[in-house]
Amino acid sequence: SLDSSAALSPMATSLEEKFGWGDTIDCVLKKKMRVWCCLPDTKWGLGKIQSVSGGDANVLLSDGKVLTISVENLLPANPDILDGVDDLIQLSYLNEPSVLQNLQYRYSRDLVYTKAGPVLVAVNPFKKVSLYGNDFVSAYRQKLMDSPHVYAIADSAYSEMMRDGVNQSIIISGESGAGKTETAKIAMQYLAALGGGSGIEYEILQTNTILESFGNARTSRNNNSSRFGKLIEIHFSSAGKICGAKIQTCKHIFAIHCFFADVLDNFHNLSAQLTSFIYHILLVKHLAVLLEKSRVVQRATGERSYHVFYQLCAGAPLHLKEQLKLKAANEYKYLKQSDCVRIDDVDDAQRFQMLMQALDTVQIPKEDQENAFAMLAAVLWLGNIDFSVIDNENHVEVVLCEGVVNAANLLGCKVPDLMLALSTHKIRAGNDDIVQKLTLSQATDTRDALAKSIYASLFDWLVEQINKSLQMGKCHTGRSISILDIYGFESFHKNSFEQFCINYANERLQQHFNRHLFKIEQEEYTEDGIDWTNVQFIDNTDCLNLFEKKPLGLLSLLDEESTFPKATDLTFGNKLKQHLSGSPCFKGENGGAFRICHYAGEVLYDTSGFLEKNRDPLHSDSIQLLLSCSCQLPQLFASNIRRQSQKESSSFRQPSRVDSQKQSVGTKFKGQLFKLMQWLENTTPHFIRCIKPNSKQLPGMYQHGLVLEQLRCCGVLEVVRISRSGYPTRMTHQQFAERYGFLLLENLASQDSLSVSVAVLHQFNVPPEMYQVGYTKLFFRTGQVAALEDARNRT
Ligand code: ATP
Ligand code: MG
Repeated sequence: SLDSSAALSPMATSLEEKFGWGDTIDCVLKKKMRVWCCLPDTKWGLGKIQSVSGGDANVLLSDGKVLTISVENLLPANPDILDGVDDLIQLSYLNEPSVLQNLQYRYSRDLVYTKAGPVLVAVNPFKKVSLYGNDFVSAYRQKLMDSPHVYAIADSAYSEMMRDGVNQSIIISGESGAGKTETAKIAMQYLAALGGGSGIEYEILQTNTILESFGNARTSRNNNSSRFGKLIEIHFSSAGKICGAKIQTCKHIFAIHCFFADVLDNFHNLSAQLTSFIYHILLVKHLAVLLEKSRVVQRATGERSYHVFYQLCAGAPLHLKEQLKLKAANEYKYLKQSDCVRIDDVDDAQRFQMLMQALDTVQIPKEDQENAFAMLAAVLWLGNIDFSVIDNENHVEVVLCEGVVNAANLLGCKVPDLMLALSTHKIRAGNDDIVQKLTLSQATDTRDALAKSIYASLFDWLVEQINKSLQMGKCHTGRSISILDIYGFESFHKNSFEQFCINYANERLQQHFNRHLFKIEQEEYTEDGIDWTNVQFIDNTDCLNLFEKKPLGLLSLLDEESTFPKATDLTFGNKLKQHLSGSPCFKGENGGAFRICHYAGEVLYDTSGFLEKNRDPLHSDSIQLLLSCSCQLPQLFASNIRRQSQKESSSFRQPSRVDSQKQSVGTKFKGQLFKLMQWLENTTPHFIRCIKPNSKQLPGMYQHGLVLEQLRCCGVLEVVRISRSGYPTRMTHQQFAERYGFLLLENLASQDSLSVSVAVLHQFNVPPEMYQVGYTKLFFRTGQVAALEDARNRT
């Protein structure tokens, strides 16, 4: 039985309406149709109707029990010939239990991919499934296989790019642990195999190793959780053009293949076999957004910081260990504080070797690699810096310890300078500098802000290096396929600024998704000359307005409040209530909390920390310190931070403790999101929705409630709903006539298929509002064809 906590809008209350068949209850009874019953324990059970009296039905359940149940609590189930169909749209009845069961049926047979109309649904198997590799790539390329697959999506993106000359995008979403990053890699493998041949495919795939080391971490929901959103653009050359530069890497790649021959199945050789294409990969560009940098200094118990820290501690070669004064991971406060240093079945030392190989493969110079590792070690040593309170106002000094000495040496600054920057603040008064001592909490925040900022800058720098290295030729005139791997909608017990940003991004993506679906739906109807005006779809403009409106939207109000030094999370909460209570998507709550009605459901946000996270201050003394460093990277980081503060909008002012002007995190995120959306708007999108079947990261386990929630959140049921409100079942005149023509009482064998079809529709009294006749196809509302099928089976 299945969870029924909410059925897919079971608005229809009578059986006739639900089954969508003009014939009466008698018909349902006679056919002993299968139904889903909402059982007293809110599960769905499959059964057959035995009899109906008034509003109640007697239903024989699959376990042999007979139950009397109100017709309101029944939904039609699909005939068993439709069990496990590979496109949900083929289901005659598109209700939640049917969709859930269909996915489960397939999942239990390792068929982890299913289509929901134009969308690919991918259920995470949490185990190796034999669906990938060269044979599958060739099979999909040569169209020998057509079952739903990431390869099929990547292939249509590639083919449409070639056919239409339009850039494509593959938009992957889903909650943490659902398989987005793995899916993105599978898509990349396919595209790398097709567009390779220049030896670049291996390099492209290796970038994942690097980004995962630096941008992924163990969380309670995923041992390898990406803590940033990313867009990977793969640019292909125009037909026939083969750019130089690539041959150089070729030799290099072959050398690497000797080491990793087994890892990537020689995608290389494969691409040589696929002689039909002439596009080559020119450029791969990564765009990373909203790295969760707070993780570097703080996180929940049982979670880890970024993988790379543990990998470095475990796997650095001796000379590096000595150079960086490295100790074991559990000697660093930033690492040991969350009581989790190891991940089961993961060998961090070995991963470090793989990381170094990958850095070599993408040709990051050894010197840069070592500089980067030095920054990591500096961050770790910063975390070990302690403060001692020196007066009764809680002012502090830095304790002279190995932490501060090592951190200063690694950054290339003087030890006293670092000590001063972490414990005092210089304020300009007229022509004089006044030095103020910091309190313990201010000093700790200053230290942590410095650590976070170094790490975030390092991450950005690394992405830039990778991009430089993946620039294969000079001619960037080709077309591209972008893969978006971005955090899905989040709703937790406690939701903070991060969820606020993530869910905002998801509202934008959902709007993109709806518009696209509606558009293709509309196009198909228009092409076939049918009237589509009565197809409705959900619009989330109200919610987007709530975020974006100026000056009275969530983001503007947050920025405004962030400029007031005296503002608190509570005053922010009150401000929202004061200005936004008129919005249909907003509800103020007690204690500064507020609710937003997102497309995927209501989320309660807790404002604590909002202002600070939005301001994300970095002490001007810290920037000065970094600028004074003799090492190249800290200097570079500081001048980037400075340049950004100067360049970016002056509408936002930092509170008094930080003197430089800086764009708020919220505004910056909005800017990035707008750029992303603009990019996506000019592409043909392909959607993949990843589903996590259980919260234990285990194979073979399918938790209905969890799956259902995700189907709702990621819009799969919305696709289904859009299809339901339209005409989901489509058959050509000929298909229809061939399948049902023999049911005609009158012999029309000599007639054309359109006449035969219309005669069938009349004979079976299919109500006119239930179908439309197009130029080439017949379009049916949900359920119509199941009934005809039944008539067909009875003869
Ligand atoms: P996050 O949002 O936290 O980054 P995610 O959606 O990117 O999560 P992944 O890291 O891609 O999730 O997947 C989580 C885990 O699920 C993987 O580490 C892997 O063990 C397993 N997994 C995902 N997809 C597949 C697949 N196609 N085959 C086998 N295992 C998979
Ligand atoms: Mg991920």
